Order: sequence, then C-alpha cells, then structure tokens
Amino acid sequence: AVEVHDVHKWYGANRVLRGVSLTVRPSEVMVILGPSGSGKSTLLRVINHLEKPEVGYVSLDGELIGVRRQGERLKELSERAILGQRTRIGFVFQNFNLFPHMTVLANVAAAPAATGLLRKAEAEELARTLIARVGLADKTDAYPRQLSGGQQQRVAIARALALRPEVILLDEPTSALDPELVGEVLSVIKDVARGGTTLVVVTHEIGFAREVADRVVFMDGGLIVEQGSPAEVLDNPRHQRTREFLSKVL
Ligand code: ATP
Ligand code: MG
Repeated sequence: AVEVHDVHKWYGANRVLRGVSLTVRPSEVMVILGPSGSGKSTLLRVINHLEKPEVGYVSLDGELIGVRRQGERLKELSERAILGQRTRIGFVFQNFNLFPHMTVLANVAAAPAATGLLRKAEAEELARTLIARVGLADKTDAYPRQLSGGQQQRVAIARALALRPEVILLDEPTSALDPELVGEVLSVIKDVARGGTTLVVVTHEIGFAREVADRVVFMDGGLIVEQGSPAEVLDNPRHQRTREFLSKVL
C-alpha cells in the first residue's frame, strides 16, 4: 500500500498541500479530481519524492520514501537510494517525456537495463512484450517524433511498466491529446488496471473514473474534500465544492 501521512507542502506563503493523508491499497485504482491549482500534481510528486514535503511522509509497503527516521526527525536519503526507490513507483506525465533520440524499443528497455534489473537482451524482450501489449508492435523501431500523441503516451505507459513498479502515478495522461486519441490511451490504462497494477490517476475524464476507479478523491485548496466510490463522489457528492466542480466538468 501507498500511505501518505499528513503531508504539508508550501512554496513561501503558498500552502499547496495542507495536511493530506491517503492510503492506496494494492491493486486499487484511485482517481484524483480537483480544480487547477488544488495540489494534485504536487501530491503525485511528493509520493515519489520529486518534491520533499515540509511536514509528513509517504511510505510504500511500510518503507519510508525519500527519508529515514533519525530519532524524532526524518533525514533525507542519498540521491542514489531515492533513485532506487523511484524504480518501484512509475510515473506517466502529461507530455509523455520520451527520450526523443531513442527508438520506442530503446525507450522502453532503457530503465530496466540501466538499473541493472535485467540484462540488455532480457530488457529488450520484456520491452517487446510490453510494446505489443499497448498495441504498438509495428512501431517498435520508430522514433517518438514519428508517433501520434496517443501512441507516444502508450509508449510512456509501456516504459513505466518495464520496471514492474508496485504503483504507477499518472498525471493527466490524456489532457495533452487530441480528443480522438484519448480513448486509445484510456483503454491501455484500463488494461493495466485489470492486470492488477496499483494506479493513482489524476484526470478529468469522469467516464473513465466511473468505469475504472475503485475510489475517487476530490481535492480543493490543498486538502482532500471528500473521497469514496465513484457512485458516492460522482453521483452523490456530499460537499458543495465537489458539486460545483462536477457541474463544470461533466
Ligand atoms: P492543474 O490541474 O492545473 O495541473 P494541480 O492541482 O496539479 O493543478 P499543482 O501543480 O499541484 O496543482 O499546483 C498547486 C499550487 O502549487 C499552484 O498554486 C502552483 O502554482 C504551486 N506550485 C506548484 N509547483 C510549484 C513550484 N515548483 N514552485 C512554486 N509553486 C509551485
Ligand atoms: Mg497538475
């Protein structure tokens, strides 16, 4: 499980996360909704320690992420140790972030080979399997610039899967795509969800949330306003702020 424990994050006077606690259970699909600036991306970045919280901590299967206890205090881990932990937490960005000078195969095989998890030949074999799984076997030797946005994002998902992470965080994975390409990426994410990978997805795709999420979390102003099943949060929101938000995105 991913446990976020009373996380506070601020930039100067801007209090971006104001006490967020959350548990993501193994194999759970959690969708996070909320208005722009509510802290959704910051929360994902805190989970894999791309951002260090001022207060609070995150643990993955009981192991603290990015820090260790020293008496009462939390002490930052070495860069190397943090990178090692990050291999257990996949991240898919809004803008794909593929390596432009590398083929699809090399993009997907790079991390498991570089981290020493697999030998090069094994990493490539795994990469071919994952590339086929996201429906891009015929693009194995293409470069990112030769692919549509939807295809690039599917490669990014295959790349995240290549490290066999315990959880994958996806930050608005379809919001940079042309509308007709959104469906193919969502269906790949659905397939990954069915495979049992724990997912935390920031998205405004309410239909996806309704169909795939086990739990929907609504954030506003750096706080979790409410969370529950899709039926609870999307159809019977308890808070006015949730209702207002949903009336804008639905
Ligand atoms: P969006 O839906 O627009 O992506 P979000 O919910 O993901 O919004 P965040 O990106 O987490 O929101 O940002 C929350 C707040 O934190 C915003 O006010 C933003 O300006 C601020 N913020 C985020 N990152 C930084 C940073 N590196 N330095 C300073 N302020 C930041
Ligand atoms: Mg964001």
